[in-house]
Amino acid sequence: MKPVFDGSFTQQEPIPDAGIAAALDVLRGGRLHRYNVAEGEAGEVALLEEAFAAFTGARYALAVASGGYAMSCALRALGVGPGDKVLSNGFTLAPVPGAIASVGAEPVFVEVTEDLTIDLDHLARLAGTSGAKVLLLSHMRGHVCDMDRLMRICDAAGVQVVEDCAHTMGAAWKGVPSGRHGAMAAYSTQTYKHMNSGEGGLLTSDDPVLMARAIVLSGSYMLYARHRAAPPSEAFEEVKWVTPNVSGRMDNLRAAILRPQLADLPRQIDRWNALYRTVEEGLRNTPALKVIERPVEESIVGSSFQFLLPSFCEARIGAVLDACAARGVELKWFGRAEPVAFTSRYDSWRFAPPQSLPETDRILAGLIDMRLPLTFTVDDARLIARIIREEVSTVALAG
Ligand SMILES: *Cc1c(COP(=O)(O)O)cnc(C)c1O
Repeated sequence: MKPVFDGSFTQQEPIPDAGIAAALDVLRGGRLHRYNVAEGEAGEVALLEEAFAAFTGARYALAVASGGYAMSCALRALGVGPGDKVLSNGFTLAPVPGAIASVGAEPVFVEVTEDLTIDLDHLARLAGTSGAKVLLLSHMRGHVCDMDRLMRICDAAGVQVVEDCAHTMGAAWKGVPSGRHGAMAAYSTQTYKHMNSGEGGLLTSDDPVLMARAIVLSGSYMLYARHRAAPPSEAFEEVKWVTPNVSGRMDNLRAAILRPQLADLPRQIDRWNALYRTVEEGLRNTPALKVIERPVEESIVGSSFQFLLPSFCEARIGAVLDACAARGVELKWFGRAEPVAFTSRYDSWRFAPPQSLPETDRILAGLIDMRLPLTFTVDDARLIARIIREEVSTVALAG
């Protein structure tokens, strides 16, 4: 009998007891709205923002309703509006072009490389010719590009960078935390990301005017003085009159759940990376399978795993997916023409002008993806790698 894996690729760990206790306190107090604080009380959201700013090293942090909201809020704070062009990754998930569309702007997609990072040569060309003044850079699936070169390209072209760190909360490039290169950075605390509050997001920046705009946009009314990781009141003087309220606040319940998770994140990152490196090791030297080599400059958070089957046609990829699924290993394929579950492609985002990305087409045609939730053990990771290795080998040898 071939061994079968019986874990769930969508099952996360429980909320830590400290988070449950803090959440019950918030519920008992009844003060769920972030600005509903008792005398002398900071409130869970303001404390979370302060802790997140310290964690990333950003001067300012703002907690919001979702990662998607954080991205659209950053674009609005940068003044992106209807008809503007915004550069972004051709390979990412739907909320990224969705954030661009939400402010009436048009995504201009950049090719992906075989390292699964944004193609910097293509970016350099488009930065000069597209007319875009902003890049919404998605660190898709946690793969970080050469951030020094990216910033040189964008600075030279006068393009401001918003980093989508939904998959890189806790990651770094040459020791600089992900999110610390661009003008603003957006994070998600949705269930499948690195901290789990069901829904939620965070936005960071060092720029007092951008952050003052973001805070007013998020729905602070004139209560911005209750923030802690925020610019001083002077920064709001102009901003408060001219910035619309586009409500998207986080509430104290979610922040209470998140604060203990943030304190635990470094330990969780080590656990994710143990799973990741186990799968990586187990898949090396599999015929027809290309492991994505991670550069030494990158400190990763291995919460998902990708590999390429560059020579396989659609039928063979289908055979691998079916055979792995029959043994309990749920793989996603980014090459599928129809969007399925969380995988969709730039050509399925038909709200954007049609664009042609031949390199991205070629790479996505062989790109396989799986989640590595922390409910898996290192032994599970070993078994998963073994199953994939066996089934890919079988299909490869079938000629
Ligand atoms: C999940 C995700 C987001 C947005 O997060 P939400 O909190 O679900 O809005 C943004 N970018 C990427 C790449 C994501 O996977």
